[in-house]
Amino acid sequence: MNLIILGPQGSGKGTQAQLLSEKYGMLNFESGEIFREMVKGDSPYKEQLMATMNKGELVPDQIANSVIEDYLKKINVNNKSIIFDGFPRSLSQLKMLEEFLLSKGEKIDGVINIEISEDESVKRISSRRICERDGRTYNLITNPPPTPDRCVCGGNLIHRDDDKEEIVRKRSQVYKSRTEPLVAILSGKTKLININGEKPIEDIHKQILEELTKRNIVHE
Ligand code: AMP
Repeated sequence: MNLIILGPQGSGKGTQAQLLSEKYGMLNFESGEIFREMVKGDSPYKEQLMATMNKGELVPDQIANSVIEDYLKKINVNNKSIIFDGFPRSLSQLKMLEEFLLSKGEKIDGVINIEISEDESVKRISSRRICERDGRTYNLITNPPPTPDRCVCGGNLIHRDDDKEEIVRKRSQVYKSRTEPLVAILSGKTKLININGEKPIEDIHKQILEELTKRNIVHE
């Protein structure tokens, strides 16, 4: 089973992807994490990636497609259920993914589209904190850490540069112009589940599970 989860920053798609990957043993394919790891390492693209990400822009398709395709080939996706989070983010990336899956005799089985307003997105993302040690995500408003600045594992909590308000607004615009159009395109090709993201995490998770079952994407 291959699912795509779409939604603006702060829609909670990362959290929902994590819950689905735990529930169904799916591989959680997070492109943002791939690029963040590259920035920490010694990739030839390091400087360019850092500048692009800090500005809230998308990594250019040529680089993104090449990096992501290499990554997909390396992790041996055969016989794995995958949830794609943060990828595809453009028409060109969608084409690459479709071709890649086709070469494996697979397809996109469903798309979960989580919707929230821009103001809500900005509010949530500027309150997001991430653990430096285990990558756990908190939100100062909706999912606060046990103690300020500290993760449950004891790691230090950080505020990502691209989670600051001005950059979040820019990322929202980029999402609207480059990624949101994929919803209409995908709705003509696969099963689309639209979800109101302005609800508690557990309610959204429950609704996603119900919709996946109702549409025969998963079988309970
Ligand atoms: P994310 O954590 O998914 O919001 O990704 C953080 C940043 O990484 C984005 O703002 C982009 O600069 C970059 N990025 C992640 N995934 C992609 C992608 N599929 N295509 C282009 N840029 C990406």
